[in-house]
Amino acid sequence: MTVLKYYLSASKEGSHRGLVRAPAKRLPWDDRGRGFESHSLRQSSMPLVWGHCFSRGESMPKYHIWTIGCQMNKAESERLGSYFEQLGYQPIANADDADLIVVNSCVVRQSAENRVVNKLNALRPLKRLRPNLTLAVTGCLVNADLAQLKERFPQVDYFFKPGDCPQWLEKPEWEQILPRRPVPSTYVSIIQGCDNFCSYCIVPYRRGRNRSRRVKEIIGEVKELVNRGAKEVTLLGQNVDSYGHDLPDQPDLADLLRELNAVDGLLRLRFLTSHPRDMSPKLIEAVASLDKVCEHISLPVQSGSNEILTAMRRGYTVEQYRQLITEIRDKIPRVALSTDVIVGFPSETEQQFQQTFDLLSELRFDTVHVAVYSPRPGTLSAREFEDNIPAEEKRRRLNKIERLQEGIAAEINARLLGKTVEVLVEGEKKGKWYGRTRSGKLVFFTNYSNCLGQLMNIRIEKTSPWSLQGKVRRGE
Ligand code: SAM
Ligand code: SF4
Repeated sequence: MTVLKYYLSASKEGSHRGLVRAPAKRLPWDDRGRGFESHSLRQSSMPLVWGHCFSRGESMPKYHIWTIGCQMNKAESERLGSYFEQLGYQPIANADDADLIVVNSCVVRQSAENRVVNKLNALRPLKRLRPNLTLAVTGCLVNADLAQLKERFPQVDYFFKPGDCPQWLEKPEWEQILPRRPVPSTYVSIIQGCDNFCSYCIVPYRRGRNRSRRVKEIIGEVKELVNRGAKEVTLLGQNVDSYGHDLPDQPDLADLLRELNAVDGLLRLRFLTSHPRDMSPKLIEAVASLDKVCEHISLPVQSGSNEILTAMRRGYTVEQYRQLITEIRDKIPRVALSTDVIVGFPSETEQQFQQTFDLLSELRFDTVHVAVYSPRPGTLSAREFEDNIPAEEKRRRLNKIERLQEGIAAEINARLLGKTVEVLVEGEKKGKWYGRTRSGKLVFFTNYSNCLGQLMNIRIEKTSPWSLQGKVRRGE
């Protein structure tokens, strides 16, 4: 889990002077026909109105977004930030001085939910002190039961569903909002929701069913992002390789990649996260043949035991998964693969855990994201199975896999020692530039001129399981 804070500059001007405020009123929750209950606004917090122009010297309202969770949350926070800036807000680092705070939440595991709840509790005194502060929550904490959410978090003025326009700031062009200053490597959500209903997962209940965006709309967005400086685009979806199945003419992810590969000025394309069942030969072929599509695939396996995979309702067997990895490696020889696993699923025996461990040892992924099973309210596994693996045993299994993976990643990365890799530079930190290879490896290097957004050839001089360090190679 990562926690990200969005801001550009910190300013102490925080007053609301000059702002047009709407009269406090009751507004319906924007349910878009998905059965959400109506929601009344708190009288204490009067929303800022879209359309006000700020004159010189007038203090601008400040926003602060706190984000936790997956890349989709990160992408949605970027988009919200751009939206607020178009409305005249300025980003601010310190939540205490903000006029508007948005908490972009994740509840995929209990540990993430705890952090969200702690954050909201920590904001309670601030809201009491400054009742005019607008506090909103989005992300997967937001469920259909708004009355219960309001009771649990009375300090929150608004709850809005992930990916939606905040309902108190209606603006017709919400769908066209893009990051104002896209970083060289930027995200584009292409499909919302998930139809899979894996037994442990809360995502389909909170993000709804598959909703793919139109190919034309995505191409338009990517072209605009490139015009604004983006060099690499990562296409996002909870189940990205099911893209298009719900659209009338049923384009698929391979078709979309082919179209985007032709966008002038775009250097690299990625996509995540893929479901093994939807990873088609056509998609593998597209990754192998399209020059801008990076050789990097994220393909969560979740378990190495067929019994557990069935209980998880993943829809494939270990044998099918192994075969898929073989096909991918045959077609895309230099591919980097990452996976996710859950340990301590209800009734997972030592032997079933060992099967996961053995599969990871055999397939040798570049990256493994390992999580301990966390029962999520409303999911099938939470309803049907007892969470009967003790916490310390889950932790032991997690540590064992982490130690295994550390060794594998160290060996895979060590093979790059002395080699020259192409890095797209994403930023500078503590005097070092950093960026990623096509295979997604993080590389640090020194360069005395600004190389943000450039492709650099870096000779690798030091490796670790997590990152690489090197020197610029000139004239290549
Ligand atoms: N769609 C992807 C897939 O097919 O696996 C992943 C999306 S899921 C939101 C991200 C990761 O969170 C999963 O791969 C899984 O490992 C983890 N996860 C989801 N629900 C979980 C739960 N109840 N307990 C522990 N980990 C969970
Ligand atoms: Fe959750 Fe991924 Fe399964 Fe969808 S495919 S239910 S997002 S784990």
